[in-house]
Amino acid sequence: MSKKAIILIGVPGSGKGMQADLLADNLGVVHVDTGKILRAILSDKSVKSDLVLNRERKLNDAGILNTPSWVLSILKKRVGALAKLGYGITFSGSPRTLYEAEGLVPFLEKHYGKKNIYVFNLKVPFSEAAKRNAKRLVCTTCNRPLLAAFYPSKNPKHCPVCGGILKRRVDDSPQKFKTRTEQYEKRTMPILAYLKKCGYAIIKIDGRSAPYLVFKKIRAYF
Ligand SMILES: [Zn+2]
Repeated sequence: MSKKAIILIGVPGSGKGMQADLLADNLGVVHVDTGKILRAILSDKSVKSDLVLNRERKLNDAGILNTPSWVLSILKKRVGALAKLGYGITFSGSPRTLYEAEGLVPFLEKHYGKKNIYVFNLKVPFSEAAKRNAKRLVCTTCNRPLLAAFYPSKNPKHCPVCGGILKRRVDDSPQKFKTRTEQYEKRTMPILAYLKKCGYAIIKIDGRSAPYLVFKKIRAYF
């Protein structure tokens, strides 16, 4: 199988992270989870006094997208290393801005070849994404979200995967979710036009059903 680079675009709460995990498990690609990578860097207490990190922490806490040039340089390092080792990748949170796309897409083309780059647009209405988000519980240990609709307990406390404690994420508070959604509309959606201009076929996927059914539709392209 040739090396692939998969881009998932969708409003916060559309299930990009879950689909990227499923792609990683099924296709053997590596899930490059930008949100997780940035959170790990930003929560590194040993570099508290760093001016750049402090600036980025403030943005992150407010639900505003991190500085695109900063994100891009981190991603290029990660992706470049993975590509050199021969790994295919799937993103779940990149590119998020036009600047990032304009830097990342040519970089991916160089490492993976244009024909091995796939772009999926996970279509979930904002109202549905907001509803999902309002109820979302995430495991504090393995970080996986709980699919409450498929879980028997009405008041679940423990993660069915690792038994960890379930909590609401700060990122999912209604105010922060609203900001993240506005950021998506203003700053991420223009990427679709850019990708089209570059000649990419953007594959629209109805993301409203259960994740395993959404995945079936995505899996059919590989
Ligand atoms: Zn867990």
